[in-house]
Amino acid sequence: MPATKNRILIVGGGFGGLFTALDLPRADRATLVSDEDHFLFTPMLYEYFSGEVEEWHIAPKYNELLDEDVTRIQSAVTNINLTEQTVLVENKDQTLNYDILVLAAGGVSNYAGIPGAEEHTIPFRKLAHADLLRQRMVEALDRVPPNLPPQDTHRALTFAVVGAGASGVELSTKMADLLRDAFNRRALSGEPRVLLIEMGDRVVPGMGEQIREFVEDALKKSRVEVHTLTRVVRVTEKSLTVEHGGVQSEIETAAVVWTGGVRVNPVIEKLDVEKTKRGLLLVKPTLQLQSHENVFALGDIAFYQDATATLAGTGQLALQEAGLAARNIRAFIEGEKLQTKHFEELGEAVSLGTERAAVLAGGKAFGGALARQARFALYTARLPTWHHRLRVGASWFFEGTTPRPLLPLGLQR
Ligand SMILES: Cc1cc2nc3c(=O)[nH]c(=O)nc-3n(C[C@H](O)[C@H](O)[C@H](O)COP(=O)(O)OP(=O)(O)OC[C@H]3O[C@@H](n4cnc5c(N)ncnc54)[C@H](O)[C@@H]3O)c2cc1C
Repeated sequence: MPATKNRILIVGGGFGGLFTALDLPRADRATLVSDEDHFLFTPMLYEYFSGEVEEWHIAPKYNELLDEDVTRIQSAVTNINLTEQTVLVENKDQTLNYDILVLAAGGVSNYAGIPGAEEHTIPFRKLAHADLLRQRMVEALDRVPPNLPPQDTHRALTFAVVGAGASGVELSTKMADLLRDAFNRRALSGEPRVLLIEMGDRVVPGMGEQIREFVEDALKKSRVEVHTLTRVVRVTEKSLTVEHGGVQSEIETAAVVWTGGVRVNPVIEKLDVEKTKRGLLLVKPTLQLQSHENVFALGDIAFYQDATATLAGTGQLALQEAGLAARNIRAFIEGEKLQTKHFEELGEAVSLGTERAAVLAGGKAFGGALARQARFALYTARLPTWHHRLRVGASWFFEGTTPRPLLPLGLQR
């Protein structure tokens, strides 16, 4: 830790933590602790999965993004003591002391206690999850010979995505498009099957009607089987049991992906401070904890009242909050008045399969191939640092963003 009397410690290097570190003035020496060595631009994890973008585009290393005056520690935080002002990190023989703490540890998958879900489904929150899903799809395809009857191929290549929020829709359409492409390349008979399972009565419940039209159309075009009002009861290594209208059915699956919800990070769950019913930290309009004015919390772990409701649990909110957190940390150090801010939605952009997207900007929605290009342009602007944005923008423009097919294992680059 830097030897100053205002030691700033940031827990988490995602949208909230990294952008706070980037927005702090250089004079404010800070330490960022993250269990990863890279930032992850989650809105494009789908494109990483489909091979439309590369790892370095969406997961730049902190070393490339942060100046040397920000100390980096790669380790998982296991405990936070707000009274002693200490943070304990795993695998390090040290306790970190702070004067100002920024909590931005994000969420984890919420399996809602469904038997087998945690053990047998693949979450979709990190690069490793996307890699694992791709590997499972290739392995399943490799097991199917071209002369297998269509109905057997269909059964052997059944994949399910649980949760039809934006994540479930974006991922299922990408999976379906990649599988259809693989069927053509491998001359397989019949069709793959991608199920999208949703407990509620419609897909993307948090999105406006304008964009929903494009989403529903894309699900049809990608031939994703949507099952609303359907609850997952159990998951095993090779099957998924669902209940619809009181009737249970078991479906053989090659892989099940869990995009069914997020809960607060366990390290935050342990803190005995003011929280909402869902366990989110209740922060003041300045992002400070109510009972600890030297602790700022933002992103998926915090409940910020003065924000459009649809922003809850989004990178958009964490990114905007980071600007306010950095400004308020400076003001706190200087003994000045801390600011508050109202946060609005910046627009919506969803990837729909490998060829289309839908974008809502300035109150108007559009879709198709042009929206896919617009989404790339829009997201270039949201990546961290000018240097990284320019490199990525140039790469997408000149080298293209063509998906990487699900080739047999022996033929992969
Ligand atoms: C696949 C996917 C797609 C998404 N798409 C969109 C989108 O299109 N638009 C949008 O606005 N939002 C999107 N989101 C939501 C968005 O990613 C989150 O709202 C946002 O990342 C929250 O920011 P955060 O800083 O709170 O947490 P995160 O960005 O999750 O960052 C948390 C950080 O803390 C680290 N960490 C966690 N636990 C520990 C620990 N114990 N010790 C040390 N470090 C730890 C993590 O490695 C990570 O670096 C998406 C999320 C996912 C998973």
